[in-house]
Amino acid sequence: MESVFPQLEPLLAQVNKPIQYVGGELNATVKDWETSTVRWALMYPDAYEVGLPNQGVQILYEILNEQPDVLAERTYAVWSDLEALMREHNVPQFTVDAHRPVGAFDVLGLSFATELGYTNMLTALDLSGIPLLAVDRDDSHPIVLAGGHAAFNPEPIADFIDAAVLGDGEEAVLEMTAVIRQWKSEGCPGGRDEVLLRLAKTEAVYVPRFYDVEYLSDGRIKRVVPNRADVPFRIHKRTTMDLDAWPYPKKPLVPMAETVHERASVEIFRGCTRGCRFCQAGMITRPVRERSITGIGEMVETSLRSTGFEEIGLLSLSSADHSEIAEVTKGLADRYEDEKVSLSLPSTRVDAFNIDLANELARGGRRSGLTFAPEGGSERLRRVINKMVSKEDLIRTVTAAYASGWRQVKLYFMCGLPTETDEDVLEIAEMAHDVIRAGRAAGNRDVRCTVSIGAFVPKPHTPFQWAAQEDADVVDARLKLLREAINADRSLGRQIGYRYHDGKPSVIEGLLSRGDRRVGAVIRAVWEDGGRFDGWHEHFSYERWVQAAERALEPLGVSLAWFTTREREELEVLPWDHLDSGLDREWLWQDWQEALSEQELDDCRWTPCFDCGVCPGMGTEIQIGPTGAKLLPLSVV
Ligand code: SF4
Repeated sequence: MESVFPQLEPLLAQVNKPIQYVGGELNATVKDWETSTVRWALMYPDAYEVGLPNQGVQILYEILNEQPDVLAERTYAVWSDLEALMREHNVPQFTVDAHRPVGAFDVLGLSFATELGYTNMLTALDLSGIPLLAVDRDDSHPIVLAGGHAAFNPEPIADFIDAAVLGDGEEAVLEMTAVIRQWKSEGCPGGRDEVLLRLAKTEAVYVPRFYDVEYLSDGRIKRVVPNRADVPFRIHKRTTMDLDAWPYPKKPLVPMAETVHERASVEIFRGCTRGCRFCQAGMITRPVRERSITGIGEMVETSLRSTGFEEIGLLSLSSADHSEIAEVTKGLADRYEDEKVSLSLPSTRVDAFNIDLANELARGGRRSGLTFAPEGGSERLRRVINKMVSKEDLIRTVTAAYASGWRQVKLYFMCGLPTETDEDVLEIAEMAHDVIRAGRAAGNRDVRCTVSIGAFVPKPHTPFQWAAQEDADVVDARLKLLREAINADRSLGRQIGYRYHDGKPSVIEGLLSRGDRRVGAVIRAVWEDGGRFDGWHEHFSYERWVQAAERALEPLGVSLAWFTTREREELEVLPWDHLDSGLDREWLWQDWQEALSEQELDDCRWTPCFDCGVCPGMGTEIQIGPTGAKLLPLSVV
């Protein structure tokens, strides 16, 4: 397969940041096309600077390339300047590894961390010469496959994709590769339809064309049913149970251009059972599976040696919850103390233990900022969302942080949560004032606190999947009130930073998150009208989405508001009900009712199981330590 680089190269001098399109990163892989049997193009549908650090893509890229007869290359969204030139000069969407045309691969696998990448997918399909609609594709086109968290409701993009895979990709990509390899070795019998059928029969791959959606006269879904006898009624998510068996990426990519994270990352556990009711990631990645302390130590060492990075991020949804996190952080801090390696831990838990960890990680270094996520402004609201943090806990924690020399505390919140009132949000101002007072009481007069707040979006497979999303005008009015309340006391307010995201983009995210197949026409209309990079504030146009929604949805008797600010009833068929995240629907509904009555639920890691359905459905249980193992072979040299 010929490289398109000779056609691309003359265009690069005319675009911004051409370096992002040239590939050749340390640890990138280029394999022989002819001797490869199955060829994957992996896309993170955003710009290189956001897409390159994505762990999911890096993991699959390495796992696939380790197979002797499999080839995987990466492609990212091209900016509009290059898109225009590519159209003018007939240059197709290309991979950055060997600059091969994406349309020539067997599979185009897209990883969607957010729904706002959907329009970028359409650009990539169009530039690749792949028909936008799956029904228009023939055997010469790649299988277009969606993965990532947004794939847990792929219905809004059902017309554009051939398949979606739910959950962890490590084993799934190899199983899919085996199905495609076998089909190709047989001479591709039955063409595209046959290979999609074989994938669907694994029960782990959702092929939308094999399912019909029927609607009621009021616009709600009547049912989703297979339109052929040999595909399953429900599609189940994939879960990689033993993280130690999958220590990827072993050789993280070192970017050529500036990216949002320039560090190696080691995932220390997957899944979360804290039960925050707004958190889709926590719900759909259950059960908790810890990487062993030895596995973490080996991955940190391998990543540092293979990249030259000087920073390691210990990733998970709530890293301080690893059962041996104290041993991990102390062991790594001891091991790398003399090597200018910094360690970071996304820490959202609000307690003194977290400060001890942060102190350990910043040993000898600068103590700049600590981040906490109370999420809800009032204690009542935090009970609704099941984020069990009291204001006293927070003040005690930040006092300890300031007393240990930390200067800056960042607090994350959401606005527009179910049952929220103006008063709930205004309590954020009081909290921020008290944080500054706590710093002053600890003897630091120059402390800072940053309040960061965005609008809440109800997500599928969470207890809030039935909730009404708050209207953007209400959210924006509350955000304005909050700013005024923070600044009402100037002496405190000038030490408080205020960052907010207005409510409008969240309404569109809400449409795409809980939409059904009818929303596909909106996405297409927005893209045809020039919509690109919708996750970027400067490129997002709310008006464009509103107008496209009016045109595409209202003739069908539904609307943007119908999909977003409407509360659903218990028995309404939700667009994703046939996609099984492992969570029991009745349990989710019960948890939604408990949210409305402001009842909290403990973390099942430390308390008895409360029957969310995941573990029995998967024949497993929560996997946590402590194992008592040491950080060998990484004890102090
Ligand atoms: S099944 Fe029980 S133990 Fe497993 S994640 Fe759900 S509540 Fe926790």
